[in-house]
Amino acid sequence: MKRTFDVQPWNIVTHDFKPEDKRLQESMTSIGNGYMGLRGFFEEDYSGDSLSGLYLGGVWYPDKTRVGWWKNGYPDYFGKVVNAVNFIKMNVKINGEKIDLAKDTFSDFNLDLDMKKSLLTRSFTVTKGEAKVAVTFERFVSVAQQELSVQRLTLENVGSSKVAIVIDSAIDADVKNEDANYDERFWEVVSTDQQADHGSVVAETTPNPFGTPRFTSAMEMRHVTDLKNVKVDQLSDKEVVNEFAGELGPNESTQLEKRVIVVTSRDYDSNEALTKAMDTLSDQVAAQSYDQLFDAHAKIWEDRWNKSDIQIDGDTEAQQGIRFNLFQLFSTYYGEDSRLNIGPKGFTGEKYGGATYWDTEAFAVPVYLGITDPKVTHNLLMYRYKQLDGAYHNAKQQGLKGALFPMVTFDGIECHNEWEITFEEIHRNGDIAFAIYNYTRYTGDNSYVLHEGSKVLTEISRFWADRVHFSQRKQQYVIHGVTGPDEYENNVDNNWYTNILAQWTLKYTLSILKQVSPEQAKKLNVSDDEKKQWQDIVGRMYLPYDKNLNIFVQHDGFLDKDLKPVSEILADQLPINQHWSWDKILRSPYIKQGDVLQGIWDFIDDFTPEQKKSNFDFYEKFTVHESSLSPAIYSVLAADLGYEEKAVELYERTARLDLDNYNNDTVDGLHITAMTGGWIAVVQGFAGMRVRDGKLHYAPFLPKKWDHYSFRQVFRDRLIEVDVDKDGAHFKLVSGQPITIDVAGKDVELAK
Ligand code: BGC
Repeated sequence: MKRTFDVQPWNIVTHDFKPEDKRLQESMTSIGNGYMGLRGFFEEDYSGDSLSGLYLGGVWYPDKTRVGWWKNGYPDYFGKVVNAVNFIKMNVKINGEKIDLAKDTFSDFNLDLDMKKSLLTRSFTVTKGEAKVAVTFERFVSVAQQELSVQRLTLENVGSSKVAIVIDSAIDADVKNEDANYDERFWEVVSTDQQADHGSVVAETTPNPFGTPRFTSAMEMRHVTDLKNVKVDQLSDKEVVNEFAGELGPNESTQLEKRVIVVTSRDYDSNEALTKAMDTLSDQVAAQSYDQLFDAHAKIWEDRWNKSDIQIDGDTEAQQGIRFNLFQLFSTYYGEDSRLNIGPKGFTGEKYGGATYWDTEAFAVPVYLGITDPKVTHNLLMYRYKQLDGAYHNAKQQGLKGALFPMVTFDGIECHNEWEITFEEIHRNGDIAFAIYNYTRYTGDNSYVLHEGSKVLTEISRFWADRVHFSQRKQQYVIHGVTGPDEYENNVDNNWYTNILAQWTLKYTLSILKQVSPEQAKKLNVSDDEKKQWQDIVGRMYLPYDKNLNIFVQHDGFLDKDLKPVSEILADQLPINQHWSWDKILRSPYIKQGDVLQGIWDFIDDFTPEQKKSNFDFYEKFTVHESSLSPAIYSVLAADLGYEEKAVELYERTARLDLDNYNNDTVDGLHITAMTGGWIAVVQGFAGMRVRDGKLHYAPFLPKKWDHYSFRQVFRDRLIEVDVDKDGAHFKLVSGQPITIDVAGKDVELAK
């Protein structure tokens, strides 16, 4: 655990700059607008350690798989989010010397991410010989104009002598990915245009042998300043630079604004159209002031917060945690583009960066349903539908029928190269099916499930029907050789979670097939034999269960392990994934993240309180929560069982996971998909929110440390506000038609 920022309700602030924490600070001060985003790396060159990551949604590269020994079925490549051309670069010289915080003497350091408006500000006072200059950098990527990045640099002479200043503002295509498999570069420059006061770079991702598309990005910078524009020679064919110079007497200050328009071949089909759009948008933006651009952006953030903010009184740490979660989720995805998704690291790092995982359906869908309009989640469902061809390909690769949606992808084709994940973590197919049900249950809108969704469900069911086999000995269907959500176990037989999801998917699909129109049924073309087989699997699926313990067993061999609880692991051995060999981890009983308990959370209304209790009590003591996705799920179950303190402890861990660097890996980037956990724990956990038969149910409690909490929830054309304080729970209809909800078993009418 390491906390590097102050605890404040709306801001992520520090006055400390420690080079050894630079990557951590960069991750924590990432910003994004769904279309693009970047880590909090410095605008100016920094000679110390840093990960300057800037990413464009959906722009990726298939990096040839690197393994020791090739086996059939391995994905050909590992999809990487490409570190984009650096368009925020701005170097400052004072009396001819470049600022470099790794070497300079400076004071008054302030790094401040304003979450309310999504603005990152960094300031410091640098001393260079006699000269003393206060430097402030501000930046935002606009949510009002997704292609727009705005920066503002303010320099103030706070010394007693005159200083000469030079600002070199640049677009630099000389960037690389740290995680490139062969240390290769992913960009080739197509053209550059360096004019005196503006410039542009067009670059294309390098060719690949796999037939996946190459991407072109084009970016143009323009500036607003009173400084003198100096024409400089272009020194590199990968970089364009615009120089601005001036002198500042004591107490004088100056500003330079940099606006960059970024367009990509994802939206335009020729380089000509791309550069034309870049110019047109740059002209439009040039006609507006900084304040106009910022206000339009801040207004949209205000609307987002208005629908979704969770207020917590009496615990600023918890308050900051939940806001940081929602802020980073919205910075990653707000449903504008159904070709994009929610990468586990969003725009904040390379590892997992930008690719789509099961995280979306399992963790993000429930949250987006509660805080945005249904079309946002609908887009997430459409994303999978549009990738069905890739899912057929993945199943075929494994010699199986139907559709196997990928564990990791950009375009539907599996693009991760660890076999125990890609071949084996097939539960994701069930999670994708479950998300369709979740959407339909929550919104009451069955248009998706009866059309596109029925196709997705059918093809997933065909996969399951082929992937199970019948055990003569058990006279039941079994699934061998899988990895469950707990990735600290590979190649296990009969993972309860996978089996129950497979069974449930087949059952749900059969029920949907009865509801689709005759035309749709014809298109789906499910034969009576197929239906009969699916029904048989539903009836005879093997679900490991231990009678003595009254628990569902994680997989066939689990109870033969050396079942010592986590409390017996020495503190200096945690997290085990950073201290133990993989072999030792796999043999241990330690659970990386909810597995049986993930399933109990999914189907929470289907189990008795005794079943929930015995499973929770048993599995919790072996769980190390070394996946950031884990604690929130346990928090909800703990709340459901009345273990309030445990629920709150797990909430704190999930909501402040990155703020306090709990898993000691936030340097790589933020755990964006785990940012869903704070909301899940508060709304499903503390407020006990469930949807049953189209009706909202709540059973709230107030954590002891808190004085009050409130949240707003979108539900079927209504906005509902839930307030919980020491006097109890209060509900209000903010907008929409009257509605009846259930509070702790009693009907409550809400009307305006
Ligand atoms: C988790 C997976 C998850 C991935 C990306 C892993 O550590 O075990 O469940 O999909 O991270 O978030």
